[in-house]
Amino acid sequence: MHTKFDRELEDRLVRYAAIDSQSDEDSSTSPSTDIQFDILRLLETELTEIGAQDVQLTDYGVVLATIPGTVDGPTVGLLAHVDTAPQFNATGVKPRVIRGYNGGDISFPDDASLVLSPQVSPYLAGKQGHDIITASGTTLLGADDKAGVSIIMTAARHLLENPDIPHGPVRIAFTPDEEIGRGVSQPLPKDLGADFAYTFDGGKVGEIEYETFSADGAEITITGVSIHPGFAKDKMVNAIHLASKIIQTLPQATMTPEVTDGVEGFIHATEMTGGSSEMKIKLILRDFEREGLAEKGELLRQVCAAVQATEPRATITCNIRPQYRNMRYWLENDMTPVDLARDACRELGMDPVSVPIRGGTDGSRLTEMGVPTPNLFTGMQNIHGPLEWISVQDMAVATEFCLTLLGLAAKGNK
Ligand SMILES: [Zn+2]
Repeated sequence: MHTKFDRELEDRLVRYAAIDSQSDEDSSTSPSTDIQFDILRLLETELTEIGAQDVQLTDYGVVLATIPGTVDGPTVGLLAHVDTAPQFNATGVKPRVIRGYNGGDISFPDDASLVLSPQVSPYLAGKQGHDIITASGTTLLGADDKAGVSIIMTAARHLLENPDIPHGPVRIAFTPDEEIGRGVSQPLPKDLGADFAYTFDGGKVGEIEYETFSADGAEITITGVSIHPGFAKDKMVNAIHLASKIIQTLPQATMTPEVTDGVEGFIHATEMTGGSSEMKIKLILRDFEREGLAEKGELLRQVCAAVQATEPRATITCNIRPQYRNMRYWLENDMTPVDLARDACRELGMDPVSVPIRGGTDGSRLTEMGVPTPNLFTGMQNIHGPLEWISVQDMAVATEFCLTLLGLAAKGNK
């Protein structure tokens, strides 16, 4: 079960994961944090060292590189994001490798109360004998998405060292700020120059994802009438009460993230700020279908209008703006990238699995902007928390899968 790529993948993930590259949604710069340049510059250097061409770190924080084709074929993009999630401590990551996992509980050196077990993470039950990488207990690991970076770097090194392997031109992009939804800058599709692409940012072996949510963001502003409370009778309009009414009127029992799954959409209130004179409510709207998303927007507007009608002296505005769209709308017109990935999976004796993602990926935006970009498995599990783990051998399967896929793309197999 051990492959020629195991040690390289392990070495790369351990090195990359130890570099803090957390993104920050409250920052307005691009990339959102300067520390992301630490890993971006390292990757720029390493790509040059392994002989990649056109290596470039753009001013919007993306490392681009080319692996020249050895035969004719479409130009395929390979993408992974270098940032780690803002939701959990990502500073001082100490990756450690458990060689030949015995199937039992895994404890953590820096937090004795944590246990990773097949009960907590059922996928782990199938990984006996694998080499498992985790963090030390106080941080996330950041296999999301440094596993993707490691897989692409290993595949690139292998192709550059073996020019006899037939493949078309490959474009590599390591992007910042995926975790805060800002990974795809306006110039990226053109600078990438790929006919189609893949993000290596998925989970279980065999997963090929080409359906994501369609997403809108909403901001409601409630302006009341402010006056000294001592003289407020029949004059004050308290924005806090109106904001509460809006929240109370929205369908909490049927349409929030905590009560929906599968292909159901939701309206999720993410933030409420302000005071008696003015309140702001931020919400995200999600649905797999355009119609369902539009209905949720309409519902939100109706609730605002109904609360407005109870208090004409207040002003309630509801702004809804598009975030990203289900990549299926574009991919179903030309399923070539998905079919190639499925064929590559089968060629390696695995069953491809496609489940709609209850979220978005960099590929959602890229697809919308003209570069069809499904998302492929890396093996990462329990992401964004201290129990994050990955199997080195799963990463090796993903690397073989990547190489097989590039070979099939050049052959024009469908
Ligand atoms: Zn990710």
